[in-house]
Amino acid sequence: MTGLLRHRTYLPARELRRAYDVVIVGGGVNGLSLAYHLAAEHGIRDVAVLERAYIGSGGSGRNTQVLRANYNTPETVPLYAASLARYRGLSQELGFNVQFSTEGELDLCHTEDSLQVEREKSALNRALGVQTDILGPDEILEVCPLVDLSGGGELPVIGASYHPPGSFARHDAVVWGFAQAAARRGVDIHQGVVVTGVQVDDHTCVGVETSAGPVSAGHVVSAVAGWSTQLAAMAGVRLPIVTHLLQAFVTEPYRPVLRGLVSSMDLTIYVSQTTRGELLAGAEIVPYSTFSTRSTFEFLSEAARRSILILPFMAEARAMRQWGGSCDMTPDSSPILGPTPVDAFSVMAGMGTWGFKGAPIFGATMADSIATGRVPDLIAPFALSRFREDRMVPDAASAGTH
Ligand SMILES: Cc1cc2nc3c(=O)[nH]c(=O)nc-3n(C[C@H](O)[C@H](O)[C@H](O)COP(=O)(O)OP(=O)(O)OC[C@H]3O[C@@H](n4cnc5c(N)ncnc54)[C@H](O)[C@@H]3O)c2cc1C
Repeated sequence: MTGLLRHRTYLPARELRRAYDVVIVGGGVNGLSLAYHLAAEHGIRDVAVLERAYIGSGGSGRNTQVLRANYNTPETVPLYAASLARYRGLSQELGFNVQFSTEGELDLCHTEDSLQVEREKSALNRALGVQTDILGPDEILEVCPLVDLSGGGELPVIGASYHPPGSFARHDAVVWGFAQAAARRGVDIHQGVVVTGVQVDDHTCVGVETSAGPVSAGHVVSAVAGWSTQLAAMAGVRLPIVTHLLQAFVTEPYRPVLRGLVSSMDLTIYVSQTTRGELLAGAEIVPYSTFSTRSTFEFLSEAARRSILILPFMAEARAMRQWGGSCDMTPDSSPILGPTPVDAFSVMAGMGTWGFKGAPIFGATMADSIATGRVPDLIAPFALSRFREDRMVPDAASAGTH
């Protein structure tokens, strides 16, 4: 076998055993990142990832691949900066090309209100060592000459923030890279296994019920994103999460014309160009709660309209495909990472619209937490208990949900 073929994602077929040290429910980028970090950084290899469909079939294979650290709170900026730093070396670390590229992110503002939010964000980011600059109209055109500063004659652009470290990575490759690196270290990844129950004995989680029979475990982690409320309920844990639909569309592929991410903070639209040449656009979550992942024509027409207002060349592009995925939204638009009131049952939940960019650091810190029993400082603010203790980390502006 050539070296090239060895690096493809043929996961070893292994039998599902009846007991593991750690069972991770959900074979998305976060569950797989956790499995990888448990094995690679702590030598905990007696780990099973149980995925009801196929790895990456949830949000991990449906996202728009945006990686960035320009968040709006003193808790979230260091978290996503640490994740971005890990992404930079991820291809080398995993021995798998995740197609990481740094191309910058330009956030356009059409109102004084949104520009003020960006000014405050820039000041906070810079204080925390993350580059986010405020640009005037001329500087915007230097970064991206394709922007229509008149906003289609409807919404003139008055300024922008620019985040040069803004990056992309290929979502499937990140999933496959973590999966393969975890499997190489002995982690069992079982696709087509549905977790149907969580076994709790005297306030302690002792295993799961699955479509392939019971599996006992020293620790169970829920990493099921859009299905987090359902899985946690099986353990008797209530999560303050509501699931929403988030959608995206791509056009036919074109020659490279757009570098980096261009978004409008007031229109809530963002556009990039994939390495395959497709123009990729996304917008906000649908305003109602749903487990449906069916994409809508309303989204396509509205997202296309908004894209054209900031990038008029989009009017010539032909939409090719659209899709939707589930986002588990918390009241403060920040994730929930760590233990729950049930011993040995932890959650990586509240991944919302931001869970792809956080995966390397979410997996690494959760692995530390499980291996050592101590929650790392970086994720301590994101404990489930914050909702009871009124210590929210409100960041709706970063989540693109406002
Ligand atoms: C259109 C769209 C665009 C997005 N864009 C971005 C972006 O640009 N940047 C960013 O950072 N984030 C983005 N996100 C959010 C991001 O995709 C998610 O937060 C992230 O993928 C969540 O990963 P995960 O591993 O936690 O969950 P998922 O990838 O959703 O994986 C959870 C898995 O759990 C499995 N599962 C569920 N229930 C069970 C069960 N009972 N038993 C066994 N398995 C189960 C599911 O089948 C699924 O595969 C976007 C999301 C969408 C939908």
